[in-house]
Amino acid sequence: MKPKERMAIPRHYPKELPPEERITNFKEVTFGFDEETAILEANRCLQCKKPFCIQGCPIHNDIPGFIALLREKKFEEAYWKVRETSTMPSVCSRVCPHEFQCEGACVRGKKGEPVSIGMLERYLTDWMVANGKNMYKECARANGKKVAIIGSGPAGMTVAHLLSHQGYSCTIFEALPIFGGMLSVGIPHYRLPRDIIGAELYALKHCGVDIVYGTTIGRDKILAELKKEGFETAFLGIGAHESRKLGIEGEEDTQGVLHGVDYLRRVLSGEDVTIGNRVVVVGGGNVAIDVARVALRRGSKDVFILYRRTKEEMPASSVEIHHLEEEGVRIEMLAAPVKIHQQDGKMTGVECVRMELGEPDDSGRRRPVVKEGSNFIIEADSIIPAISQKVNHTADKGLQMKIESWGTYRVNPKTLQTSIEWIFAGGDDVLGPQTVAKAIYQGKVAAESMHRYMQGQDLFEGRDLTCYMVDW
Ligand SMILES: Cc1cc2nc3c(=O)[nH]c(=O)nc-3n(C[C@H](O)[C@H](O)[C@H](O)COP(=O)(O)OP(=O)(O)OC[C@H]3O[C@@H](n4cnc5c(N)ncnc54)[C@H](O)[C@@H]3O)c2cc1C
Repeated sequence: MKPKERMAIPRHYPKELPPEERITNFKEVTFGFDEETAILEANRCLQCKKPFCIQGCPIHNDIPGFIALLREKKFEEAYWKVRETSTMPSVCSRVCPHEFQCEGACVRGKKGEPVSIGMLERYLTDWMVANGKNMYKECARANGKKVAIIGSGPAGMTVAHLLSHQGYSCTIFEALPIFGGMLSVGIPHYRLPRDIIGAELYALKHCGVDIVYGTTIGRDKILAELKKEGFETAFLGIGAHESRKLGIEGEEDTQGVLHGVDYLRRVLSGEDVTIGNRVVVVGGGNVAIDVARVALRRGSKDVFILYRRTKEEMPASSVEIHHLEEEGVRIEMLAAPVKIHQQDGKMTGVECVRMELGEPDDSGRRRPVVKEGSNFIIEADSIIPAISQKVNHTADKGLQMKIESWGTYRVNPKTLQTSIEWIFAGGDDVLGPQTVAKAIYQGKVAAESMHRYMQGQDLFEGRDLTCYMVDW
């Protein structure tokens, strides 16, 4: 096929559950491509000599490589091409913010629409499952060395996966009774079905990874004890699970105030959380959007998002914003909460102010400025601030670990070694709240560094991801 012919093929979009049906359940919203659509879409790829898509992918997947195999219908080979670099393509293909990563760098996006790379990756993983193909790599003989991994999110899962496949005896200590970190207690089922996380768990157990649930390191056991128990290295992949507060009157002591990731953790763990019919969610990122969409699915009738800038500045991905609006959530733009009103301790409404956009701030977005005297009240049963998260430092109790001023672990950004020689860290506890693909990449770097550390070699040096942080 000539490049001109490839350029003439329009981008294909997946079918989706209709909005009126999806708000009644947690079923996956987006369907996968069929074979014909996947091949047509793969034919849009220009196989660039300088593939910017690879640079855009935090894990540097060989995207043109797997697409070339896919369009020759070599689906199994194409899947294993992705697995050369990625530990969990079935997760990444569904949740990565492709428009900011691989697809955002695709040259076809400069004059039109990028290749639907995420959907093609998903086609391969779905095809492997549908055709009963082996998706496991071979396990290695035990080498007698023990590694402790704190946290079972994508960073910890990646370290466990890679080191267990090199013969290390890996134990994951997880505070919650559930496996998967934010994949399980943050990202809702309608974006990431739970059998996919289950398959990742099974893959780890397949190579002997031991998972100790309900154990909070720093409270039930401290890292120094693990060292005494013979763990030669430890990886801290504890994420960023502590909600940042709005800091307004009524936030601490009013019934009806819940914080974003706490609400999601409770609902997604199966708890019946009552928040009433009128719900205000504060924030413009993916967490705020997931909170609003979950609240709808849990029966709240009137859910809206309060955001202090405009829709154009929202850090959430455009497809999530589109789904949110389709489902009937209103976005109240250029507004910020200043006080939570209550009667007898129960919330009655949120007092807000109007904002206008001033000069650009450090993030390059225009700074929201309060319009004096613009106060107004929104009556509501609940408010769920979902403005960001920070790291909870229980895990490093008793150790004098160096922490950055914004609360993340101080590491060598290339080797991911912390200020304590035998402890490494990566993912959201190093980068701040970021993405699954970045957590996986740091898991890969840390695993290689830890391996070399245990073999007495110079540590591995990966890319410093703090250089291209995307603000959610
Ligand atoms: C609502 C929501 C939606 C998101 N949507 C997307 C998305 O669409 N795409 C995307 O790429 N990213 C998304 N993210 C971000 C993504 O989930 C995170 O960047 C990623 O999960 C970070 O991985 P991690 O392994 O560093 O930490 P986490 O996934 O947070 O896992 C950390 C684990 O450590 C455990 N832990 C913490 N402290 C201790 C302790 N002391 N002892 C033992 N265990 C401990 C926690 O219980 C948790 O299981 C979303 C996040 C949220 C909250």
